Amino acid sequence: MPKITKLSKVNMGKLTENIEKQEAKKGFTKDEDIRIYKPKFKKDGTFTGIIRFLPSLDTDVPYVKTFKHWFLGPAGKWFVEECPTTLGQSCHCCTANSLAWKAGDKDTSRRRMRKLNVFANVLIVKDPQSPENEGKVFLFRFGTKIHEKVLETIKGSDVDEPINIFDPIEGANFKLVIKQVGGYANYDSSKFTSPSKIGTDKEIDTIGEQIFTLSEFLDPGNFKSEDELEEKFNKVEGLKSDAKTETKTTSTPDKDPGDSDEPELNDDFIKQLEEQE
Ligand SMILES: [Zn+2]
Repeated sequence: MPKITKLSKVNMGKLTENIEKQEAKKGFTKDEDIRIYKPKFKKDGTFTGIIRFLPSLDTDVPYVKTFKHWFLGPAGKWFVEECPTTLGQSCHCCTANSLAWKAGDKDTSRRRMRKLNVFANVLIVKDPQSPENEGKVFLFRFGTKIHEKVLETIKGSDVDEPINIFDPIEGANFKLVIKQVGGYANYDSSKFTSPSKIGTDKEIDTIGEQIFTLSEFLDPGNFKSEDELEEKFNKVEGLKSDAKTETKTTSTPDKDPGDSDEPELNDDFIKQLEEQE
C-alpha cells in the first residue's frame, strides 16, 4: 500500500470533541447518520460535485470495507444485516447463497448477495446543490465502482502516474458525477482530476480536525452472532428452523480471519462464483 501521509498537527482537543460527538451517536446501521454525505440530486436525477478523499487517523488504510446484506424475502420481510465476512468470519446468509448458487438457483443467490460498502472521510469541495456542505468533512459511503476508481488511481497505469488520492498535499480531487441509468445511480463518469494541494497548511489543519474515526465500522458489536443471523434469515426466507441442519455447514470460516487483509480487489461473491464456473 502507498504511504499514508498523516495530516499535519491535528488539534487533539478538537479531535477529542469530535470523537465524543461521534461516539454519542447510536451505531451506523439503523438511524440516519448525518455524518454520511448525501448528494442532493437535481430534478433530472443527476448530481455533479467535487469531493476530496482524506486520510484516516485511526486505521491502517484510509478507508474501511464492509459487506452488508439487504434484501426482501418471499413474504415481504426485509433482511438488513451487516455480513460477518467483513470481519473474516463465516456468514450464514453467504453460505446459503453459495449452496443456492451451486444448486443452480442463481436468482435467489443474487437477490441475497452481500453488497460492498466502503467508508472514507471526504472534504466537500464543490456542491452546487447544497453549497452549505462546502468546506465540511463527511463520511462518504461508496460501492464497487468508485472503489475500483480509487484503487486504479492509487496504482497508476502504463500512462498514468500513481496518485495517493488520500494525501492532502499530493492527492487529487474527485469529480463525483451521478447519473440515473436503468433506474440505478451510475458513477461511470466520475473521475479523479490532476493532483493538487487541498489548501494552505492552516486550512489542512482545520480539515484534519473534522476527520471522523473509521474503526467503528469494524466493531464486532455491529455484527449479530451467526445463530441470530440464521434465525432472522430463516424468518425472512420463510424457512423452518429445522431446515438449518440441511444448509448449515461447519462454522469454520472458509478464510482464515488473519487473511482478511487479502488483495483489495476482492470481488463480490457472485464474481468469484462466476469465475469458478
Ligand atoms: Zn454474508
